[in-house]
Amino acid sequence: MEKPKLTIDEMAVFCKRKGFVYPSGEIYGGISGFYDFGHLGVELKNNIKKEWWNTFVQQRDDIVGIDGSIITHPMVWEASGHVDGFTDVIVDCRKCGSRFRGDQLIEDKHKVSTAGISLEDIKSSLKKDKIKCQKCGSELGDPKNFNLMFAINIGPVQTSSSVAFLRPETAQLIFSNFRLVQENARLKLPFGIAQIGKSFRNEISPRDFLFRMREFEQMEIEYFVHPEKQSECSFVDEVLDYEMNVYSADMQKNNKKMERMMIKDCLSKKIIKTRWHAYWLAVMHKWFVELGADPSHFRIRQHVKDELSHYALDTWDLEYEFPFGWKELQGLSNRTDFDLKQHMEHSKSDLSIFDEETKKKILPHVICEPSQGVERAFLVFMFDAYHYDKSRENVVLKLHPKLAPIKLGVFPLVSNKADIVAKARNVYNDLRREWTCTFDISGSIGRRYARGDETGIYACITIDFETLDDESVTVRSRDTTEQVRVKIKDLKEVLRKFMEGEKLGKLGKSVE
Ligand SMILES: [Zn+2]
Repeated sequence: MEKPKLTIDEMAVFCKRKGFVYPSGEIYGGISGFYDFGHLGVELKNNIKKEWWNTFVQQRDDIVGIDGSIITHPMVWEASGHVDGFTDVIVDCRKCGSRFRGDQLIEDKHKVSTAGISLEDIKSSLKKDKIKCQKCGSELGDPKNFNLMFAINIGPVQTSSSVAFLRPETAQLIFSNFRLVQENARLKLPFGIAQIGKSFRNEISPRDFLFRMREFEQMEIEYFVHPEKQSECSFVDEVLDYEMNVYSADMQKNNKKMERMMIKDCLSKKIIKTRWHAYWLAVMHKWFVELGADPSHFRIRQHVKDELSHYALDTWDLEYEFPFGWKELQGLSNRTDFDLKQHMEHSKSDLSIFDEETKKKILPHVICEPSQGVERAFLVFMFDAYHYDKSRENVVLKLHPKLAPIKLGVFPLVSNKADIVAKARNVYNDLRREWTCTFDISGSIGRRYARGDETGIYACITIDFETLDDESVTVRSRDTTEQVRVKIKDLKEVLRKFMEGEKLGKLGKSVE
């Protein structure tokens, strides 16, 4: 079945119409870069976070979680380099005052990635290409640096020492709590600390719906290793045969296409330098694919020399092919001991840990920092789930059952027979103890199925006249429209197996 590619704007319209995402404060005209999640969006978002936490914290012995505060001690951001260096370049129009991001102006003009471009390069490029205001065509002013952190004031009086920041990333809270977490959770290297939570960036030009927002959520891990054991990775065997689209710095430099490669070949050809990096790239990719995302829409891309962050030794992004091109989904950088060192210097606290084996104090290195935006994951799952079914003449949102906001719909076949409605209510009340369910009584059964398809309801259960005779119901699959007849006493077990991936046809008597 041919899948029409939705634009990002069409996805925004779909999300609004079905109750997933609304522009924040829309009754007042909205506010750029901020979105509210509706009754289905909140469920999907919570499911994404729950699956991530389950995979990377609860199912692992080597990672624990924290939940840090959003307003953070200003020294944290001083030490991390954000106060001085967390900037974008802004350019104002001299005439109409419109404000642009310098790198985006150049990107729009030349259709190339400008990641990592400096203020000086932006200045000379704007001049050389005679780039004008995108709104009115007038002259642009001088480009200047702009700090992306939201500053706020703590307490009733505003002084220089009352200024604090909304955190621009979750990572620094992990570093500032590093010693306490390591000691109390008795973590031994290698280990990770994870966090899910909101971050805030005063983006100059938020764009592309949920892709670049001013308030967003991150799911992040800092993974620490012994500085002398950076090449040892006991988990790498799990992923050696795992395949992904790979786009190395060399391939980019030589204008080559990305290649489908196995992890073991990336390592033997030294395309990915460390095993830890290879491991984390593979498991993050796998997380998406196991939750129903299409692997052909993903690639891993190595940063080229100019775009490496100030702290990073080698950075790879997990990228996704959005309707507006290949974009970063997740950055996985090697942050070395940069952050812990910075916090030791600025706080004068000892953040090193005692290594039993060498009987020495060491400062661990962050070998990898998988950092995922929740809303970007949200977009990925929505895009890959969205199908228009020509024969059904409606959208089918094929979200993985673990992600589907509402798993089950319970429908009495007719609304004017009290005993059928009562029976359906009983089934519904029983099922909702275990799964998110909806009870829908209005419109034809076909209309109710279509409504369920469009919001990703994984299975629909219909109670009809036959149910009153033999205690059986019809279960319908969202993805195949296949229907089977199941006894109410077996219903929960059937649904459990169906959601774990068994074929519905094998779980009940087929209905023609
Ligand atoms: Zn202008």
